[in-house]
Amino acid sequence: MTHDSRPVFAANWKMFKGPRATREFLDEFLVRYQPAVDRRVVFFPPSISVEAFLFAASARPDITVGVQDVHAEGEGAHTGAISASMAVEAGASWSLAGHSERRREFGDDDALVARKVRQILQSGLAPIVCVGETLEEREAGDLTGVLARQVGAVLAAVETAGHADLTWAYEPVWAIGTGRTASPDDAAEAHQIVRSAIATRAGDVTAEQAAILYGGSVKPNNIDSLMEAPGVNGVLVGGASLHAGDFAAICGCRLG
Ligand code: PEP
Repeated sequence: MTHDSRPVFAANWKMFKGPRATREFLDEFLVRYQPAVDRRVVFFPPSISVEAFLFAASARPDITVGVQDVHAEGEGAHTGAISASMAVEAGASWSLAGHSERRREFGDDDALVARKVRQILQSGLAPIVCVGETLEEREAGDLTGVLARQVGAVLAAVETAGHADLTWAYEPVWAIGTGRTASPDDAAEAHQIVRSAIATRAGDVTAEQAAILYGGSVKPNNIDSLMEAPGVNGVLVGGASLHAGDFAAICGCRLG
């Protein structure tokens, strides 16, 4: 994959917006957000809405689509799951892996996240690997240990050739959906820790070029300061991405 250093503005819709609500959102968003060559915009709708999304956004190749999760195996008797290759067939080009809600609600531990990332890469999707500490872990002084463990587990499981294809999202669990955002200094510090953990296993060049997004209560009123923080290469947005006006303002933010 060729290296693309443009910042990423990603929307994680979680379990919101079926096909009809997806079309209604795009009616508004595509008017409010006009294509810009200096950034990438990616949506992660529920997988059942991917087709409706792609149809409604077919005139906008600047916007790409991903799925929020895939199974760690290619196919099989796994009721309710989708595979990475099915996501490709449906037109997706990205997949999240390791979102904290998957880790907490569905038991996606480091080993499972690593297996999912392998599937995602094998299928040709671009992964965004989410890492981040809980409040208890941060208060116990374990920020570096947690991030190094989560990053290391994925890099150890993925072939060296795939290391450069990974996009990362630092998402402090205490900032997701809480309205509490990491300060730009906190984000810069954590991104540096993630980058160092990447360097340890994947080397300095891969670490320097790695895109690391920040996620956790990103809103139109804090996007500028977060994007100015050193080492922040984009954002992964939950709640605010459900509102066309808010997400258009985030995607249209000023860039350095
Ligand atoms: C997320 O779900 O990845 C997220 C960052 O959510 P929110 O923006 O609502 O905190």
